[in-house]
Amino acid sequence: MIDSAQETLVNGTLYVVATPIGNLADITLRAFAALSRCDLVLAEDTRVTGSLLAAYGISKKLVSLREHNEREMAERVIVWLQEGQCIVQVSDAGTPGISDPGARLAAAVWQAGLKVCPLPGPSAVVTAMSAAGLETGQFQFAGFLPPKSGARKKRMENWLHADYAVICYEAPHRILDCVTDAVAVYGSERRLVLARELTKTFETFIRTTAGELLDIIKQDSNQQRGECVLIIDAAPPQPDSDEVPAAAQQLLSQLVEAMPTKQAAGIVAEFTGISRKKLYDLALEMKKSAIDDEN
Ligand code: SAM
Repeated sequence: MIDSAQETLVNGTLYVVATPIGNLADITLRAFAALSRCDLVLAEDTRVTGSLLAAYGISKKLVSLREHNEREMAERVIVWLQEGQCIVQVSDAGTPGISDPGARLAAAVWQAGLKVCPLPGPSAVVTAMSAAGLETGQFQFAGFLPPKSGARKKRMENWLHADYAVICYEAPHRILDCVTDAVAVYGSERRLVLARELTKTFETFIRTTAGELLDIIKQDSNQQRGECVLIIDAAPPQPDSDEVPAAAQQLLSQLVEAMPTKQAAGIVAEFTGISRKKLYDLALEMKKSAIDDEN
């Protein structure tokens, strides 16, 4: 039996603690212990974190650490750590530093020769990827896309031929425009996954083509509500541009039956502009497989 009471905090350490992204039961034992025992909690919105802690029966000193005051706060946090305090940093939900404040603070604390200890837990990016049913051997996390269509489409063009999925955070009031842009950039057939309200009552995964997703979102305004993540699947594999087109292959196969290989390759090369050498090699392969078939 794991006993979270065994979790001892080390003085002068900054604990970066992930909190639930919807379901309050998704708190880890270590996160619970750290929040219960630390000297103070740095929170993005102290009201949001105050309610979260109240739900766990924890009462703690809360200090605001947001994007706009992260740099100055880092200096004060370093002093508190040097005094030996145990400090927890959380964001409103999920993992701090992931499209949330935290990276600058962590950098400053390391720089000061102090320790940053991550307590892992929920994050929308990993939660969405884990159930999307896409290839996850490699994927790109793109954070929030630019809010304006022109810049957003430009960013999307980077992934036109991506052989990996790209996962983006998106605001619900922009999801319609965002998917409209995805159709404009990738066409209707590119596969997308819209993951909404993860770990919450109305959790939804829509796994379909860009064109169909756009229709669904337009017809059902509920799909434009709540928190959402959009995954752009890898581009379908491109046909091998080196491959000789089917029509040229067919002509070549007929000619090699009627004349020497070199001459057949020469005629097809003249008509198609394809390299004579490539056609000659292909003709030899055709002859060889015809002989193999006969034997
Ligand atoms: N740090 C957080 C994390 O680790 O996931 C992300 C914070 S970012 C400011 C908030 C964005 O994360 C939302 O706009 C949404 O795109 C995504 N997100 C957070 N919670 C979510 C949920 N329950 N379902 C779907 N997306 C969520």
